Amino acid sequence: MARPLRILILLVILALVAGMTAGERLWVRSWSRPLAVAVYPVAMDAASADYVARLGAEDFREIADYIAAEAQRWQQAGVPAPRIGLKAPIREAPPMAQGRGVLDAVVFSLRLRWYAFRHTPFWDSLGTVRLFVLYHDIEGSAALPHSLGLQKGLLGVVHVFASDAQRAQNNVVITHELLHTLGAKDKYGAGGLPIHPAGYAEPYADPLLPQTRAEIMGGRVPITESRAEIPDSLADTLIGYATAAEIGWSRP
Ligand SMILES: [Zn+2]
Repeated sequence: MARPLRILILLVILALVAGMTAGERLWVRSWSRPLAVAVYPVAMDAASADYVARLGAEDFREIADYIAAEAQRWQQAGVPAPRIGLKAPIREAPPMAQGRGVLDAVVFSLRLRWYAFRHTPFWDSLGTVRLFVLYHDIEGSAALPHSLGLQKGLLGVVHVFASDAQRAQNNVVITHELLHTLGAKDKYGAGGLPIHPAGYAEPYADPLLPQTRAEIMGGRVPITESRAEIPDSLADTLIGYATAAEIGWSRP
């Protein structure tokens, strides 16, 4: 094939992918139909395989309930309740983010989209947020790798512990990354401390500290100027005003 033709075909494919991704993003953020989320569990070690095999859709239901309740609180009457589906486990782990440069991020995003393309149905996934939830043995892993949610491609990679005792906290992390795919930004700074005011559940409380809940993208409950605690469950968090605006919940 002549070189100009090859380049033209490549450009057309890139334009199609870019257009589809942008359209998909607008479609999801318009909240005109139920937010569709597909959870694909991955056991990261032999010890987690049994736990992953026992997972049920009910393990994730509180995420849908939480988003529906928060939408109501923000008077988004037209927002239908999300649908979170649990898919069959994937045996191969997704690519891990490496490096911090811009090029690293681009390469990682493409590798993740290629992984998603190979392991999930193409047409059924259009307009659906795909979350790869990676289960780690709680005994063997002191700290988990960083989770992430990409707005481009509506993809998330979430690291959690394979333990019933951790389920409520896992759902906090999953919800945080899910909201990233919808356009929400982190609201914490150095040392994981939430940034005031947007990263606080009650930014205008008096006294300001200690807070009793976390803003979901602030990530932690601010206790003192230098200390913040990881919330136990979604009940200890809320979607703050900045996050609500970022995910397209406009004021009525
Ligand atoms: Zn985040």
